[in-house]
Amino acid sequence: MLLGPPGAGKGTQAQVIASHLSAPAISTGDIFRANVSGRTELGTKAKAYMDAGDLVPDEITVAMVKDRLAEPDAKAGFLLDGFPRTIAQAEQLRDSLAELGNGLDCVLELVVDEDELVRRLSSRRMLVDGEWVQRDDDKPETVRHRLHVYREQTAPLSGFYEGEGLLARIDAIGSVEEVTARALEALGRTPGSVPAPQDGE
Ligand code: AMP
Repeated sequence: MLLGPPGAGKGTQAQVIASHLSAPAISTGDIFRANVSGRTELGTKAKAYMDAGDLVPDEITVAMVKDRLAEPDAKAGFLLDGFPRTIAQAEQLRDSLAELGNGLDCVLELVVDEDELVRRLSSRRMLVDGEWVQRDDDKPETVRHRLHVYREQTAPLSGFYEGEGLLARIDAIGSVEEVTARALEALGRTPGSVPAPQDGE
């Protein structure tokens, strides 16, 4: 699982690391945005929270993640990006994975100072239908609020996972390639390496 504030580069790193691990990257932000664009019932429920830079309530988010984790491509493993974001979500994730005899292997925290985050978020653009647009929640006032929400509700997960012996922190300032190399090293993999064979293989 990737942990880190908005603008730390979780989405970018999730794609690259997931392809190294041959596992799907599951981003709750992406799933919510797809539902907002598709005007689904879930999207309608989530939109007001997202526009305000607030977290979507835990019961909506946890149910959505449980459904996603039940899909066949997640059976052999997955990389979570942007979930969990509260201690309650983390506890529910732990319980539902434990029911399946599973658990997280590693929580990778991407560390970036706040000035750099504000710089990155205010210049970030997404390509939508061939045009570069700013996400509504990347506007300066909303960015400040999202960082506040991160400090209050999500940052405590760092201590939570440290207590579980799962946390690895990496410096997430540098090029995408440099950060990926640090991430893979923290995960015990060198870029381009294949997974170690399991017993019996
Ligand atoms: P992200 O793309 O991860 O920055 O997420 C964008 C927005 O989606 C957040 O500001 C929240 O409104 C919502 N969101 C994404 N993941 C979660 C989550 N785990 N819990 C609650 N809300 C979330």
